[in-house]
Amino acid sequence: MGEAEVSLEYLYKVFTMPEGKDSKLAQIEQHLSNNLADFLSQHVVTKVNSLTQIEKSFAEYSVPESPEFVSKHAEDLLDKLVANSVNTYSPSFIGHMTSALPYFHLPLAKLMVGLNQNLVKIETSKAFTPLERQVLGMMHELVFKQPSDFYQNYLHSANYALGAFCSGGTIANITALWVARNKALPATTQFKGVAQEGMAAGMMHYGYKKMGIISSKRGHYSLSKAVDLLGLGRQQMITIDCPTQRLSAEKALAMGKQYQQDGNKVLSIVGVAGTTETGHIDPLDELADVAKELGCHFHVDAAWGGATLFSNEYSRLLKGIEKADSVTIDAHKQMYVPMGAGMVLFKDPNDSNAVRHHAQYILRAGSKDLGATTLEGSRNGMAMMVYSSLHIFGRQGYELLINQSIEKAKIFARMIQSHPDFELITSPILSILTYRLNPENVQIKIKTQSDMGHELNMELDKLTVSVQKQQREAGKSFVSRTRLQTEKYPDQAITVFRVVLANPLTTESDLQNILDEQIAIASNIDIWKKLCLAS
Ligand SMILES: *Cc1c(COP(=O)(O)O)cnc(C)c1O
Repeated sequence: MGEAEVSLEYLYKVFTMPEGKDSKLAQIEQHLSNNLADFLSQHVVTKVNSLTQIEKSFAEYSVPESPEFVSKHAEDLLDKLVANSVNTYSPSFIGHMTSALPYFHLPLAKLMVGLNQNLVKIETSKAFTPLERQVLGMMHELVFKQPSDFYQNYLHSANYALGAFCSGGTIANITALWVARNKALPATTQFKGVAQEGMAAGMMHYGYKKMGIISSKRGHYSLSKAVDLLGLGRQQMITIDCPTQRLSAEKALAMGKQYQQDGNKVLSIVGVAGTTETGHIDPLDELADVAKELGCHFHVDAAWGGATLFSNEYSRLLKGIEKADSVTIDAHKQMYVPMGAGMVLFKDPNDSNAVRHHAQYILRAGSKDLGATTLEGSRNGMAMMVYSSLHIFGRQGYELLINQSIEKAKIFARMIQSHPDFELITSPILSILTYRLNPENVQIKIKTQSDMGHELNMELDKLTVSVQKQQREAGKSFVSRTRLQTEKYPDQAITVFRVVLANPLTTESDLQNILDEQIAIASNIDIWKKLCLAS
C-alpha cells in the first residue's frame, strides 16, 4: 500500500513527473496557486493537538526502507504536518514577526527552486550573482546614501563587496562581528592576523585581556551566539540595563572606557534599530560617537526595523544609522520576503576583505564569486525575491506598508489605553507594542499602595502567562509574551503580551476581537477573579 517500485526506472520518473496532473501533490499545488487563503483555511490548524500528541506522528526513527508514491506521501503531509502547523497568514496572528506574504512569492519560489542556482560561485549562478550584488547595492544606498561614482566603482567589483546576503539576521550579525574582529586584530610585521593565527595569539600580540561587545539588554540573542562563536566568550557580551528600552549612550561610553582601562578591548558597540521585544530604536547618532571615542566598530542591528528607511516619514527615527560600519537588515521581516533573506551591509566596501577566503576549485582570486566573502557556502537564489519585491512594491509601496503598520500599532495602543482593564506597557515606536491585562482596581492599588506593587505584579505575571497560553491553544488568534524591565516598574521585570503588527491585512476589528477574547479567557481564571475583588 502506497509503496512504489524500487527501480532506477521509477526513480528517473520521480525526477521528471511520475504521477501526472491529477496526483494529490499536483492538486495541492493547484489549490495553493489558485487560492492560498482558501487552502490555508481548509488545511492548516484543522486539529487542536498538543505537541505531545503531534510527536506521536513523528515517532518513527528508522529511515523508511522502501520508496513511497509521491501522492500517498502528499496525503500524509497534509494530515500530519500541514494540519498541525501554524497559520502565520492569519490576520489575528499578531505575536511574531512572521506574517502573510504577497502572493507573487509562491510562483517565484517555484521559479527559484526550479532554477536551483547556487550563489556561492558564478559557475552555478551566472546572472544571479550580479543581481545579488545589485540588491546589496540598493540596500546599501538606502542606508548609506553614497554618491553614484561610489556605486559605479564597487557594485560589481571583484575586489570588494558592499555586503553579504545570507539566511537571516543571525548570520548577518555574526558576519558583521566577524569582520569587526578580524579588523580589530589585524596583521603586523610579527603577526599574521587573527584569521590566520587565532584568538589566543591575537590577544597576546595586542596585549588585550578580553574582547567584548556592548549592547543594551534588549540586544538580540544572536549577538551572544556571535561572541561565543568568534572566541570572545558569552561573558564578553556586555549588556546594559535599559528601563527606557533604549541603550544609554552615556552608560555605553562609561562602560566601554572602564572595560578598556581594565586592559580589555571593546570590539563593537551594537545599536539596535527596532528591538525584537518592543521595537525601540537605540540613539544611533550618539552611539556612533561613542564607538568613535572608544575606537571600535559600530554595528547596527536593524534586522527588523531597517525597512523603516523606506518611509520618508519615519526614517528619521533611524537617524545616525548611516554612521554605522555595518548594518543588518532582514528582508524576511518587514520587507515581506519569505524566510531565508538576511543582509549585512558594510559602509566601507573593503571591510568584506577582512574575511575573504580563496580556494582552488572555486572562489579563485580575482573571481567575482560571492562565496569568497560570505560565511555560508551554498546559498539559494533568494536575492531574486528581494529584487522582485523592490520592483513590485517600489520604495513608495514599502513606505505605505511601513506607515500603515506603525499607524495601526498606534490605534491598537489607544484601544488598549481606553479600556479600563488593560494596561499599555510600551507604546509603539514602530509597529510593536506590549501590554497586559490589569483590572482597573488593581491599577489604582499599585499606584496608591506602592508596597503592594511587587506582589500584585507577580500575580499579574501568572495571569498574563495563563491567558497567553490559553489564547494560543484555542487557535483563533495569537499574541506572544515576554518579560521586561520597564520605566513604570523599574524594580522588577514584568510579563507582558507582545504584539507585532506585521500583517497588512489585520483590521481594527481583528484587534478588538483579540482584546475581547483575552477578557473572556481571563474571566474564567481564578487569579483574575481574585484580583478583580481586591480593593
Ligand atoms: C529577527 C532578528 C534577528 C535575527 O534574525 P534571524 O533572521 O531570525 O536570524 C536579529 N536581530 C533582530 C533585532 C531581529 O529582530
